[in-house]
Formats: sequence, structure tokens, C-alpha cells
Amino acid sequence: MLYASTRNRDLRVSSAEAIEKGISTDGGLFVPTEIPTVKLSLLENLLAANYQQRAKKILALFLTDYTDTEIENCVQAAYTDDKFLPEPAHFKDITAKGGILELWRGPTSAFKDMALQILPHLLGVAIRKNNNQGETIILVATSGDTGKAALEGFANVPNTKIIVFYPHNGVSKIQKLQMATQQGDNVYVLAVEGNFDDAQTGVKKIFANKKFNMELAAEKYQLSSANSINWGRLVPQVVYYFSAYLDAINNNKIKLGDKINFVVPTGNFGNILAAYYAKGMGLPVNKLICASNINDVLTEFLSTGVYNKNRAFHKTISPSMDILISSNVERLLYILSGGNSNLVQEYFAELEHKGEYTVNPEIFAALQKTFVPYQFDDLSTKNAIHKLYTEKKYLLDTHTAVAWQAFTEYSKTSGDDHYSIVVSTASPFKFSEDVLDAIGGKSETAETEFAVLRNLSALTNWSIPEKMSSLEKLPVLHTQIIAKDLMEEYVRKLILK
Ligand SMILES: *Cc1c(COP(=O)(O)O)cnc(C)c1O
Repeated sequence: MLYASTRNRDLRVSSAEAIEKGISTDGGLFVPTEIPTVKLSLLENLLAANYQQRAKKILALFLTDYTDTEIENCVQAAYTDDKFLPEPAHFKDITAKGGILELWRGPTSAFKDMALQILPHLLGVAIRKNNNQGETIILVATSGDTGKAALEGFANVPNTKIIVFYPHNGVSKIQKLQMATQQGDNVYVLAVEGNFDDAQTGVKKIFANKKFNMELAAEKYQLSSANSINWGRLVPQVVYYFSAYLDAINNNKIKLGDKINFVVPTGNFGNILAAYYAKGMGLPVNKLICASNINDVLTEFLSTGVYNKNRAFHKTISPSMDILISSNVERLLYILSGGNSNLVQEYFAELEHKGEYTVNPEIFAALQKTFVPYQFDDLSTKNAIHKLYTEKKYLLDTHTAVAWQAFTEYSKTSGDDHYSIVVSTASPFKFSEDVLDAIGGKSETAETEFAVLRNLSALTNWSIPEKMSSLEKLPVLHTQIIAKDLMEEYVRKLILK
């Protein structure tokens, strides 16, 4: 199977090239030229399979230029039992009509591990296939979780350097510590004076700077991305939607062939887009419920067809969803327009110049057919954490809580009786101050984040992820803060000297 660009439907690259480049030189994102189909009989065969086996099958459908052994090696190296406890995607039965898919059982306690533990391996194979002799520089803009997961995935990977930019004051204390303590000879972590969109825009500009990329190429360097604009980030995420569906069958919540809803706490639209691909492949999906915090650009888009980033940026207790430009919407528009890359180009030119665009009636109708948007503020989010904890002793993090609240609202008002799976994107300990506050535990502001972790654990009997408590003893290695317009300058100095 070959890949086109959302801004050039005639381009053709292999999946190895798409993964190695990260983003197309025309500024577009790589997209498969066709969507493979999965029959119910294949699903049936995978019912008894473990996550690794399921991953091999699904990944092979998209990565057709990888051999089975290559895929197998990548999967085995990424999803090991000691890194994901008890398993990569852990299904929890919560109510009669709703379950939770815990995707944060990996090394950094956020769902980004699901893709970023395997991406370095997929990229390593891609580089060998493409006969690239030089060094790959991974650039990452992060709202907190991607940065650490990418650092963990790429630290000390030969022939790579990884540079992570995060918004100074835009990430939680634990997220900041996780990144600032990262060890490895090839890792660079920078705080940017600005918000996540500033960091993401800065990284996109570096990718789009042809002259700079040529200078790098002359020295045998090439840039790649670990953000969800990289196809190698997105494709591993398709797997867990299939896996969740199979687990719901195995837990007697549904029968093979029944449709279900997925409820996804959304930021850059990567996670929920993976669900959309799964649906397109034939996974029986009814609705995709898109949950946002008060940065409600997606809520407005999905309910009106107008994408308008001209609005205040709000810092919330779910910082990984504090986003105004959701990159993966571009892939969705490409699919819904029937691969009309000219139209996609027009929309994104408008977004750049006017800060908004309006999709045509056909695309809007297609959006409305599948997506149901919700948005909730911090108070509703905390109430959702409090309520589920009180009723079921189940602890939600601040992002998943937005989705749980969307599920609750949807169940109450839609009349839709399908089973729903709420995708859980982070361990509650990653956002422990707000989670503790939500369940009525006191946290003194003077306390260290580790005291807060211990309070939350003592109060709930949930245990702190080991990698998180061990942060307390690690030295802080990265402290540099830079202005948002100096990001390229920094990369240039670091690499070209
Ligand atoms: C990244 C992230 C999200 C948003 O996921 P997208 O794929 O960017 O939509 C939600 N919750 C958490 C905890 C995250 O780390």
C-alpha cells in the first residue's frame, strides 16, 4: 500500500518513507491511498490473541512494505510485559453500558506510550529500508505527555537525536520533571516561552523551511517527527480500538458484530482519528464521541463545520487537550473530501491567513454522521472524578474525566443504547494535585508533588506507578528556556554548530 500527502493526492511514498520523513515537504500529512478492510472472521480469529498478536495483524495491513518478521520484531520490542503492566491496553468493565480502556500502563503513564514505544523501532526499520546513512533528528512539540513518551522511546537509539519543545508553564509538575530528568546522550529538552500551539507552529516551520532542510541534508542529517502528524505514531493507535472491541466481546459486554461507541478525550485529534480509521476498516463502530475541555475549537467545528482558531487559549487541568490547532483534522478532511488535496490546501491556507475555514456541506454532513462533540469545564471535570470515585472507587485522571462526563451526558440524552468504551489516556497520578482535590483530599500548596502522590495513594489505595515515584531521586538535567522564535536557531546551532 502506498501513501499520498493530504496536500498532494498524486504523491506516492511507501510507509517506510512516510514514517522516516514524518511530514510531507508540501506541508501535508501522509495518508494511506486506500483503507484496508477487516472482516468479522479475522476479528473472530483474534479473540483469543494477546495484544502483540493483534498488533501484528493490524499493523501489517498498513505497513505492506515491512516484512512479517520486521513487524514482529518491532511489536515484540515495544510491547514487553515488563514495560506494560499488566498489558498494553487494559479493558475495565465499569457500568452496564460503559467500560474503560486503560492505555496508560506503559513507562510514562500516558497513552502516548502505545505509539511511542514502537515508533523508534518502526523508524529504525524504515531507515534501513531507505538506505539512509546519516542521522535522524526527531523534533517534538509537546503539551506534556508526548515529550516524555518520545524521550523514553528514543533515548540512546543509535543515529538519532531527539529535541523536545514544551510550553514553559504549560505542563504539569510531574510532566515537567519527567522530561527534565531524562537521561540519554542524544536527548535535548527545551521550555518554550509560549503555549503548545506556539511550540507546534515552531516545529512545523522548521519542517517547512526547505533551505534549512537542504543544509541539513548536505551534512547527512534529516528531520523527522514523533508528533501524531507522523503516520508511524498514528498507525499503532488503530490497533487498540480493535483490541478493545475484542476485549468487550470477551467480557460479555457485546457480541461479535454489535456496534459500539468510543469516547475519546481529544487534543491533536490523533487518538480519535485512529478510531475513525478502525471504523473505516470495518470495525463495528456507531459513534465517536469527541470530548474537549473549554478549549472547544473541535466542539464548534464538529457541530457547525466552522474551524476557528481565533479565540482565547485557556489553561485547564487537562493540559494535554489545551490545543487550538488539532493537526490530524487535516487527515480527516482529506478522507471526507474523497482525497481532494486542493480543497484541503485551500482550507489550510485560510486557516493560516484568516484563522478559520468552513467545510462544504458534504463534509459537514459526513462529520455529523459519525462524530458527537462535547466540552466540559474544569469544575465538571472534577465533579466527574468525584462522582465515579465515590460510586465505583475508580479513579479518573483529568483528561479521561472529560470523556467520562461526555459519556454520562450522552447516555442520558441521546437515547443511544450501544455499549460505549471510554478511552483512558493517563494515570490519575500524572495529574495528582487536581485529582486529589477532586476527591476531596487536601493538598497543601507548599507540599512537593511527591507528597501529593503519596497522599493520593494513601487516600485511595491505588499505587503510584513505580517510574513516577522514582523521579524524586533523579537529578534535573534540562533547565533551558528559549523564546518561541528562536527554536530553529537552537536546532541549527545544536546540529550544524
Ligand atoms: C495527548 C493526550 C490527549 C489528546 O490526544 P490527541 O491524540 O492529541 O487527541 C488526551 N489525554 C492525554 C492524557 C494525552 O496525553
